[in-house]
Amino acid sequence: MNQQPTGMCMVCGKETQNRCSKCADAGIDLFFCSPEHQKLVWPGHRIFCGSQAFPVSFPLLSKAEVASIVGNLDKTIFCPTIDGQEVQITLMDHIRQAALPGMGVPETLTLILGTSEESTARPVFRNNPGKQQELLLFLRMSTESCIGTTSLRDGILTGLSRLCLCLTDKGIMPYVPEYERNQAELFHRFVVFHTLTAFAMRPNTIAEKMLAMQRYGEALKESEIAMYAFAEGKFGKAFSEKLKEVIQLLKPRGYDFVVKP
Ligand SMILES: [Zn+2]
Ligand SMILES: [Zn+2]
Repeated sequence: MNQQPTGMCMVCGKETQNRCSKCADAGIDLFFCSPEHQKLVWPGHRIFCGSQAFPVSFPLLSKAEVASIVGNLDKTIFCPTIDGQEVQITLMDHIRQAALPGMGVPETLTLILGTSEESTARPVFRNNPGKQQELLLFLRMSTESCIGTTSLRDGILTGLSRLCLCLTDKGIMPYVPEYERNQAELFHRFVVFHTLTAFAMRPNTIAEKMLAMQRYGEALKESEIAMYAFAEGKFGKAFSEKLKEVIQLLKPRGYDFVVKP
């Protein structure tokens, strides 16, 4: 008799018993068929591996990230909304309208500072860590256009924030801190998918793009198929169709060039 749980590799979808051991210790089974596939997406998975894996918790903003948000609050931005449109508005007003309705400017500023990793001593979110995560995701999504996304990590976190907020907005998933185990497992598949997307989409030159397509195109396609198969197995066909629609809507320009349908 085999008591060992099995599941689909988060990269290629192959059935396997191999789990990420740090995440298993945190109480969640995240499967990788081989060390190669675990290593392939490590730059993304590492952001959430271990204690951040379940309950899912996004990393707080660094000192530099908070500083660039605060320094840009008066700036007029073209801001992407969760459904892929753009609005022109100051960053401060955008944050107040969309994430903190009814909140004054000083209180908004206090709450923004409260999403910094340096703010653990501040009592702002002590009684409501869920609200902190909600604002954090919103800041990661909406500040991209004024800060400029530079690192791979930023790209992954911005894309994930947009997807999670969109799924919450459409009533398909709860807020991130409320994800139950299966929803958290699905979330980690979003991470894998966004990591491979970031690898494949980052190059600027045609030659680099061709190389990225060869290297990551297949894994990206397989991870997307495995993600929908997992979603359908756990939550049903209707759920997985809705998820597919949202992900399709949020895919970056040029995606179909990298991954041939
Ligand atoms: Zn695999
Ligand atoms: Zn892990």
